[in-house]
Amino acid sequence: MVRGFKYPVDVRFKCVRCALCCRDTASKVRRILLLPEEVGRLSRITGLKPEEFAEPVDGPYPYTHELKKVDGGCIFLRGNECTIYPFRPLVCRFYPFTLRVRGDEYVFEYTDECPGIGRGQVLGRRFYEELFKMFQKWKRLREGW
Ligand code: SF4
Repeated sequence: MVRGFKYPVDVRFKCVRCALCCRDTASKVRRILLLPEEVGRLSRITGLKPEEFAEPVDGPYPYTHELKKVDGGCIFLRGNECTIYPFRPLVCRFYPFTLRVRGDEYVFEYTDECPGIGRGQVLGRRFYEELFKMFQKWKRLREGW
């Protein structure tokens, strides 16, 4: 059984709103993965059919879709602004962090491709607790995840 979580203790992060995480880069094709519940929610909120904004993908579990892109950027991106920001997917809320299972613990990891890493204040436990709560909420909704 997986218990608790670990996090990097000395990481500074402040988003600079560059939207790099919303688009492909020279070295990376961005995949903005969606849970099935998020596909339904975005469809309700935008009035679009799922096939108009997302494509089915074969995992990684529990993700079932990814957001479509226009010119290498998320379909919901306008300039550097996210047009669905209050309803953005979990992966966007987590970026530049991810949560992995390592042995019997969850471990927060991060990518330093994000220009916000190294800026602002050192993140404390509360920051990671908020992300972890978000993760647990979705986990409760998804039996077996
Ligand atoms: S890449 Fe990092 S700094 Fe840029 S918008 Fe995304 S989270 Fe913010």
